[in-house]
Amino acid sequence: MGVFDTVCVPCPGCGREHEFFSYADPYLDRFTLDNAPDVVLADISGQQQACGCGFIFAIVTKVSAKAIQLTATKGRGEAELE
Ligand SMILES: [Zn+2]
Repeated sequence: MGVFDTVCVPCPGCGREHEFFSYADPYLDRFTLDNAPDVVLADISGQQQACGCGFIFAIVTKVSAKAIQLTATKGRGEAELE
């Protein structure tokens, strides 16, 4: 409880830094969007913040195709039924 990682994200409107908190893999680290681990980014995905300048912005994590791996096993086809 009370242990989290912080990701500092500048407001797209005025540049003021906002903090998003991740409880996924907490080590009290501070990250930016550029160096935050995937597990942290996934955890803050969907979080939204409102800035005093009027902007409301949210983190949206996109799945990278490079992280997808195809696995396959070959079973017996119906033609081989005994
Ligand atoms: Zn702002």
